[in-house]
Amino acid sequence: MRLATTHALLVSTICALLLVVIAPTAQTGAVQFVGKTKYLNNARAVVVHSIDDSTKLVVDTADAMDKYGIKGTFFISTEMDPPPEERFFNQLQVWLLWPRMRKAVENGHEVGAHAVTHPCSRPQSDTTSDTYRAFCEANYTDFELKGSRDAILKHTGQPYVWTWAYPCGHCATFDLIQKRIAAAGYIVARNYPGEAQGLHVRPDLQTWASNPYDAPYTQVVQKAGGRRGATAPPIDVASLDAKFDEVYEKGGIYHFMSHPQSLDFGPEGFYEKHLAHISRKPDVWYVPMGPVYAYHTIVERTDVRPLSNAGGKARFAVSNTLDRRIYNGSLTLEFNAPGSIAVFADGKKLAERTKAVTDRWNEEYIRRESDRLFVTVRSNTTLEFR
Ligand SMILES: [Zn+2]
Repeated sequence: MRLATTHALLVSTICALLLVVIAPTAQTGAVQFVGKTKYLNNARAVVVHSIDDSTKLVVDTADAMDKYGIKGTFFISTEMDPPPEERFFNQLQVWLLWPRMRKAVENGHEVGAHAVTHPCSRPQSDTTSDTYRAFCEANYTDFELKGSRDAILKHTGQPYVWTWAYPCGHCATFDLIQKRIAAAGYIVARNYPGEAQGLHVRPDLQTWASNPYDAPYTQVVQKAGGRRGATAPPIDVASLDAKFDEVYEKGGIYHFMSHPQSLDFGPEGFYEKHLAHISRKPDVWYVPMGPVYAYHTIVERTDVRPLSNAGGKARFAVSNTLDRRIYNGSLTLEFNAPGSIAVFADGKKLAERTKAVTDRWNEEYIRRESDRLFVTVRSNTTLEFR
């Protein structure tokens, strides 16, 4: 008797469990939109690297980055034949770089603008003076702003030029100059504060800049260099790595910048040691600067709306009114959904992701983490769950 009761109880419990397991697959109402993730593919943290100037060492830097899977932004000055006295640090004949930059773009890096002629010569001391302002107004011309942009579009195959870097860090704080940069179509401009005073070493930004047209970074990874009496502490790889670890732990954006002419290459050099430390983490998004700023806007401006369940299938509209030439990247949407469900974007089935590292910004895929479903898609699409 007692055994039979236990048995009956067990059977009914199993039936109830089966119902719980089976019911959601039968009801598309089981698909629930949870929210947009902070970073693409629900990454925990982000790594961004920016590289300045058109020296031949840009090629060595790009090769080292590819060796460790780091994605970055190459700020190139586009003057075809700079005067020989300008070629040592900041300029090289840029046509030597274009083939490598084209390959870099194909491989998920970005080329940003660093003016045409890299205007840098001005009195160093008095950034509030009329002379300084006059320098900025005279040098931030269409020729420098649009000329460099157009050369990058022409030579790299990149669809858009998102980023600007201020040559020698000059003029970044002027509203008038920021407006000119925005008018030329750039969505973000990286600064380089106070090299002569050592202010460039660790601005310590760990997220998106509050003013994207005066955007700092986390730290430099380079020896003291340049032509302006630059100061920097001795290279300490443990300290560089510890700063990355701190940002990673907090789930921030770790953005480090380098001048290739101030690096040591090879696996025993400080640069590659640091690259090795930060590379190939499955919960980090490796992405250039422009696309990660574009992503921020995409996430803020994209609306996800449930549509009526046509034929019993859950559907959502993913839309924004952003310019698709600029904001061509994906975003990631989290859902609660049954494990067996397939997701279609505008009728096309999204593949389940198998790659371990997130190192692109415009791919489309799904990824499951137990009962959480992450759908990474470009916006302005209709998602259907079948
Ligand atoms: Zn420069």
